[in-house]
Amino acid sequence: MAYQALYRQWRPKDFSHMVGQEAIVETLRHQVETGRIPHAYLFCGSRGTGKTSTAKILARAINCEHPKNGDPCGECDTCRQMENEDNLDIIEMDAASNRGIDDARTLRESVKYPPQIGKYKVYIIDEVHMLTKEAFNALLKTLEEPPAHIVFILATTEPQQLPTTILSRCQRFDFGRIPARQILGRLREAADGAGAEATDGALMAIARAAEGGMRDALSILDMCIGYGKKVDEALVQSVLGTSDRAFLFRFSKALAEENAAETIRLIDEMMKGGKEPAAFAKSVSEHLRTMLTAKCCGEAIAEILDLADDTTAEYLRESEHIPTSRLMKMLEAFMQLETELKYMSSPRIGLENTSLKCCLRTSEPDTLAINDRIAELENQISALKDQIAKGVCVAAEAAPAPKEKNTAASAGKKAETSRPAAPVQKTLTPTGRSADETWKEAVRQLQKGEPAIHGMLLMGSYAGSNGTNYLWKANPGFDIIVASLNSAERKKKIEEALTAAAGVPSTFQATDMQSEIKKNEEASDEEYVAGLIETFGAEPVDVVE
Ligand SMILES: [Zn+2]
Repeated sequence: MAYQALYRQWRPKDFSHMVGQEAIVETLRHQVETGRIPHAYLFCGSRGTGKTSTAKILARAINCEHPKNGDPCGECDTCRQMENEDNLDIIEMDAASNRGIDDARTLRESVKYPPQIGKYKVYIIDEVHMLTKEAFNALLKTLEEPPAHIVFILATTEPQQLPTTILSRCQRFDFGRIPARQILGRLREAADGAGAEATDGALMAIARAAEGGMRDALSILDMCIGYGKKVDEALVQSVLGTSDRAFLFRFSKALAEENAAETIRLIDEMMKGGKEPAAFAKSVSEHLRTMLTAKCCGEAIAEILDLADDTTAEYLRESEHIPTSRLMKMLEAFMQLETELKYMSSPRIGLENTSLKCCLRTSEPDTLAINDRIAELENQISALKDQIAKGVCVAAEAAPAPKEKNTAASAGKKAETSRPAAPVQKTLTPTGRSADETWKEAVRQLQKGEPAIHGMLLMGSYAGSNGTNYLWKANPGFDIIVASLNSAERKKKIEEALTAAAGVPSTFQATDMQSEIKKNEEASDEEYVAGLIETFGAEPVDVVE
């Protein structure tokens, strides 16, 4: 027997052998059983999702003398005659290759004649959006006054290109991509049927690469079997030109750690392995997308992206260390690279350039990189503030009840009384807590007694203290919380908690970034210098580079 491609061998003969599209199949079965057949169907959907197979089954089912549950019986005279590809009642046309006016005229002539075998003459027109204007007009004329014995099944990947006059006369069915897990089942049958030893991982890799198209999936399997009866993940990757996951994780790690040397070395390794930069860039994009999805959706990625459990765990673990903004930026860069590579004379240089850009982000003047750096600086500043606050608070203990605002005079007084206390001390309040600990304790108490206030405090962070005045700063975008927290009632509750935790009357102030900057500008130089002297002492020092 002549070799037949797998996707032909496994083309479903009836609805019960179809994979996916359950809702469509159910509706069609019902129509066949009740005999309520519209004159024109429109099957839309991406390639390989079963449009043509469904059309062929439907054409036979509506002609069958004794359909079984909406499926053609395969036994009656009509069924048997229609199995012959040359029958005159099922007419298949490919609009992509027969676009001319001749076909339009033939069509108009041909619909006049009744079917020869069954009840209906069925025209299956593939890629119908490719028809010429003349052919559309001929089709439209027929659809306006269809003879009772004619059924059109129009199939297209581009329904938006069809004129509304056609769309409005068809019953439309949208064929979704087939989930990878369903494709996997059919691949397993096909592999076993062909006597191939295929691993689950290999078949899953094929199912994912097919992106919801059964025909593509079976064609890839066919190619793999062409190399031998053993089909494993490595073979699939080499047939598809994709890279294995372990390598991709090493690559994304190098990017995240800004390890330019390792990145370039990995690209070299990839090239020496005989892979194409374009295929690799696509793999990296998919890999980064999966990481990003893992960050946003957590364990749900297993279902969304059809991943095995161990793969899901790996993605969740690895994506934890890279900020979302960086992943987005890296993904953007690689997606752009995919487009640009088509026009590049030296794809490797393009790949290296994009990879290095991802690594050397800190010197790049784009907003995401700047945001990254701001976030890092904010962390450093808040850590520094903590330390400074501790230094200043030492004075607070020595000068009791400084409830008034921290003026230049009081700062001066503090400086006087606490000159020897330059080293940062931890014990500050009568309760023996540092400012930090006081804040934490107050927040703990608020969490118990005032959950609403506690919730608001979570939308910002502790920003240090000046003596007994504790500062809180709203996170970017949460400035609206500031006024709420400063309202007399809430402020009082917070201050009570702070006072209890500190053992001295304490105050609270919520700020946003803007007002804090302003406040710092307003602070007098004198106070600033006093603060410096207090912390570092008054001796002149030489700055050594
Ligand atoms: Zn039949």
